[in-house]
Amino acid sequence: MRFDTITIFPQMIDAYMNESIIKRAREKKLIESYAHNLRDFSADKKHKKVDDRPYGGGAGMVLGVEALSRALVKIPKKKRQLVVLFSAAGRQFDAAIAARWAKKYDQIVMIAGRYEGVDERIVKVLQATCLPDRQANYLRTRQAGNLQTVSIGPYVLTGGELPALVVIDAVARHIPGVLGSHESLEEKRHGIGVPVYTRPEVFTWRGRQYRVPKILLSGDQKKIAEWRAKRKIK
Ligand code: SAM
Repeated sequence: MRFDTITIFPQMIDAYMNESIIKRAREKKLIESYAHNLRDFSADKKHKKVDDRPYGGGAGMVLGVEALSRALVKIPKKKRQLVVLFSAAGRQFDAAIAARWAKKYDQIVMIAGRYEGVDERIVKVLQATCLPDRQANYLRTRQAGNLQTVSIGPYVLTGGELPALVVIDAVARHIPGVLGSHESLEEKRHGIGVPVYTRPEVFTWRGRQYRVPKILLSGDQKKIAEWRAKRKIK
């Protein structure tokens, strides 16, 4: 799986991609990550400006469509490419989507917005650039097969870099070989929300003792599985 992120802060993406399980997955060539600096595609060679004031007035700046369009067509295109535009108002990203994307696509291109967001015309540019002609002609929404507008949660962040990393991490976990056997998919092993404990068996803190539930020390795997199943979030 190839991940391409268009951003004005590529080092934010690279920093995360160079640690832990994700770094190992890159070294094993299971995933590739390219953080493209949007400023490199600015027509303004001197100041590398990529934003401007919003039409209609108001505070803040808007990421322009020009450099973004140039960046988009420069990124090598794989056969099963998905393009993701981030917005707090987009479709809620979740575990099922992550698993589906890992199977369905071999490349995810992500546009990380900043400031007041991205010039809305990027949607039309994306439709014209990334979708087959027949789809682009009748498409009226921001969601269409290999073009998705995605939110990672009901809150507004300062930029799309964290959403991009959330997507990379959540999707990568579903690619065979990315997780080692002892890290295998949490949702398959214990289940999401199941409490976990490690040594010491009894933790003493400010005069009180905190114990590991007895069932987990029993060695009775059947009972342990039942105990975990009860606590699992379905
Ligand atoms: N007024 C803008 C809007 O309604 O989208 C807010 C822009 S926000 C300050 C800057 C950028 O952060 C957005 O363009 C988007 O890329 C990203 N962003 C913020 N919150 C997000 C969320 N919950 N999910 C995904 N992306 C988000």
